Amino acid sequence: MFHESYDVVVIGGGHAGCEAALAASRMGCRALLLNLNVDNTALMPCNPSIGGPAKGHLVREVSALGGEQARAADASTLMIRWLNTSKGVAVRALRAQCDVRAYAAHYTRALQTQARLDVHQDEATELLVEGSKAVGVRTRHGSTYRARTVVLCSGVYGGGVAHVGDVEFPSGPMGQTPANALFEFLPVLGLRVGRMRTDTTPRLNLGAIDLSQARKQCSEELPLAFDIWGEKRVYNTGFACYFSHTTPETHAIVAANIHRSPLFRGEIHTLGPRYCPSIEDKFMRFPDRDTHPIVFEPLAGENGYTREVYVQNFSTGLPYDVQVKLVRSLPGCAEAKIIKPGYAIEYTYLPPDQLLPSLENKEIKGFFCAGQVNGTSGYEEAAAQGLLAGINAALAAQGKEPAVLGRAEGYLGVLVDDLTSKNTDEPYRMLTSRCEHRLLLRHDNADLRLSPIGRQVGLIDDVRWEALQRRWERSNAEIARLRASRLAPEEKVNRRLAEAGVESISEQTPLAAMLRRRGVTYRLIETLAPPVDILDEDEAFHVETEMRYEGYIEKERRVAARMEDMDGVLIPKGFDYETVKGLLTESRQKLSRFRPRSLGQALRVSGVTPADVQLLSVALKVWRQ
Ligand SMILES: Cc1cc2nc3c(=O)[nH]c(=O)nc-3n(C[C@H](O)[C@H](O)[C@H](O)COP(=O)(O)OP(=O)(O)OC[C@H]3O[C@@H](n4cnc5c(N)ncnc54)[C@H](O)[C@@H]3O)c2cc1C
Repeated sequence: MFHESYDVVVIGGGHAGCEAALAASRMGCRALLLNLNVDNTALMPCNPSIGGPAKGHLVREVSALGGEQARAADASTLMIRWLNTSKGVAVRALRAQCDVRAYAAHYTRALQTQARLDVHQDEATELLVEGSKAVGVRTRHGSTYRARTVVLCSGVYGGGVAHVGDVEFPSGPMGQTPANALFEFLPVLGLRVGRMRTDTTPRLNLGAIDLSQARKQCSEELPLAFDIWGEKRVYNTGFACYFSHTTPETHAIVAANIHRSPLFRGEIHTLGPRYCPSIEDKFMRFPDRDTHPIVFEPLAGENGYTREVYVQNFSTGLPYDVQVKLVRSLPGCAEAKIIKPGYAIEYTYLPPDQLLPSLENKEIKGFFCAGQVNGTSGYEEAAAQGLLAGINAALAAQGKEPAVLGRAEGYLGVLVDDLTSKNTDEPYRMLTSRCEHRLLLRHDNADLRLSPIGRQVGLIDDVRWEALQRRWERSNAEIARLRASRLAPEEKVNRRLAEAGVESISEQTPLAAMLRRRGVTYRLIETLAPPVDILDEDEAFHVETEMRYEGYIEKERRVAARMEDMDGVLIPKGFDYETVKGLLTESRQKLSRFRPRSLGQALRVSGVTPADVQLLSVALKVWRQ
């Protein structure tokens, strides 16, 4: 028997586990990352991309807090684009196609060179608990690792069962071995478990696809980076994705074989991701549509390690022989060859209403959970939770108070609040529409919102912190100048305005007011009234947004502050909802089950009405007296 002690033990080397282990060790804890298979570190079993609306916001927030994912994405980017630019400043976000091996290699190197962190290949089979406190794990090899705190980031490996049509076998993602023992053990400790499903697409050989029939899309010709401190680069490597669509023939094949889908044969009862349905799901949900968009996304560049192509929007759990017909019905794919078949995978998760907003289990102290094991789907959702769980596991190991994010502080705050106060019984994916304070939670201000927290917990070093201070000073000085300075109605000014298609001015006009005029950009103001310091693209965008939407942002801040006040009214642990007279039965049951921490959280529990929260507020006042 081998025994060793750590401050923090992290189970799992996926996106969540990598972030948790890096955060805990960088915060000064001795940490261990246990992984079933070290070669699957930061594996991307689905799309070879990072970011997109809401997910891109999360990556930026991970960067702002001092996490690693943004750097891993930058180190492996093949092409990168802004998405949602026409939908408003709040929701625009970066999305990068990544070389999946380079992404994994970045994390692997970061883990294996990190001081105070050990990485070890073994399967955690038992969580050791004394009283109501997690004290370590036991492993397949018979080792015992004592720890002050444990973070579970086991993803889709617990109780994994893959389905390819009527063929069914125990499996983790991408043919990895599943990890069942721990999930057989956790219910013994009183933890509730549930089952979910996700699917992926067949992977094709790029060489056997005629891409002339698809629309090519290359990288943005702008220097870009996810990491706030990262070097911005233009990715003009020639790498491209190819947009295409399914055909009426594809749909005829699905129709003829739908009875062979494990989903529609009734062999799978679990819920899959609503926003990422399989092709057979789409066929059933939208029978009138005879075509759906798809995208061919190569996993590596032209001379990369593989010619594998991921077919976005084409996931399926249909039998292999049907998959061959399906892919060959796509334009330019008559000769297509499948390298890896698509499959559906069912797995066990721990319903996240068992967690506090710090991601610590409500009943077992020192036991944190993050990533897909909490019922989410996506690398970004996993990494962001992993970072928060790692931070809080380290803080708990050091005897400090947890870091908890509010809904107006970050997409990560929204994600965790949704999971812990509303629970989820289908894979939860971050969407901009889940977030009520979108104008406050922009890509461009993630550093302002979250870097002070990253700095406080010790994840942002002096060099980065000073760089941020300089950046904030430059932006603030420019905002002050825009408020204080005016533009005179000179001829050359009006000529320049006319060239830009903007109405001329007839009197002295504040620069801030100019910026709110239709067609006026910050860069135009800069030419009319040059600042002392020229702002870079990010700073210019930030200043322009803050000024142009100043009134709306202020209003949103007031709404958020009101909600924050309600979040500040804490509900005592063990509060008895039976004592609150007049509560609807549904509210009483849900509040007793979810046990919200605050009035604000109680209001967000689905099914609990504002009137019931009012009753609860009165009852709490009486209780306090
Ligand atoms: C088939 C499929 C399709 C998907 N489709 C999409 C999609 O379309 N869009 C999207 O955004 N996301 C998709 N995802 C989800 C995305 O891949 C995951 O959400 C993400 O990888 C979760 O990260 P994680 O760190 O939580 O877990 P994982 O990446 O699953 O990593 C879990 C880690 O834990 C380790 N582990 C597990 N149990 C133990 C144990 N007992 N002891 C030691 N180590 C253990 C594993 O070896 C692994 O390293 C898909 C996933 C799959 C499998």
